[in-house]
Amino acid sequence: MRQKLVAGNWKMNGSIKANQQLLESLKQGITDIRADIAVCPPFPYLQQVQALLQGSHIRYGAQNVSHEADGAFTGEVSAAMLVDLACTYVLVGHSERRALYAETDERVAEKFVVAQKAGLIPVLCVGESLHERETGETEKIVKRQLDAVLTVAGVDAFRRAVIAYEPVWAIGTGKTASPEQAQAVHAFIRQHLASQTAGASVAQTVQILYGGSVKANNATELFAMPDIDGGLIGGASLKADEFLAICQAAH
Ligand code: 13P
Repeated sequence: MRQKLVAGNWKMNGSIKANQQLLESLKQGITDIRADIAVCPPFPYLQQVQALLQGSHIRYGAQNVSHEADGAFTGEVSAAMLVDLACTYVLVGHSERRALYAETDERVAEKFVVAQKAGLIPVLCVGESLHERETGETEKIVKRQLDAVLTVAGVDAFRRAVIAYEPVWAIGTGKTASPEQAQAVHAFIRQHLASQTAGASVAQTVQILYGGSVKANNATELFAMPDIDGGLIGGASLKADEFLAICQAAH
């Protein structure tokens, strides 16, 4: 039985005041929730989140990481810095990073490796665009994105990683993949890992989250699918009641 994980990706949202209110409400509401819970605030708030979550079961992580270790890389944040701030997770390859900041599969794979070497749990985001889905290329794209990481890190690396399937057409659009559509891709991801040499047991244990317009009113049916191990939540993670209701749906 895989433990479920619900992670909030705050994206470029939040303020000191709003974060405090949100986290206080989450801490109060979290008591009877059995899933793993995490939040991923913007970099400048990591230390605030660390302080506010002291003694809580809620984990936290970053939304991005540099593929470089240190040095003259203005504006970048290293994996060691995230470890310094006691992050558990870091998102790599979110579709917004791939599309808006030109992150290639290879660059995402480098980030995955650097993050994992530093001791972080990378949350590898994969997913197809609307055009790719409509032309029947979903599996091809997801396989390509996974293979870039498998090539450099090997299947065993997924013992200490999370995968998030986020169809681009479902992100921030209010259009959720149906539970069956999501399940089919999650099963494909698991099969693909299982097909690697010595991949069978990793495939069974890796958490695969669904992301893309998850709300309180669709989380239960998504999380009930056999290969969906929780969610990566954008917009709905900014509202305490909504996020808590989603967390409640994961057990
Ligand atoms: P929304 O939940 O706002 O669609 O965003 C999903 C997402 O991109 C999480 O990483």
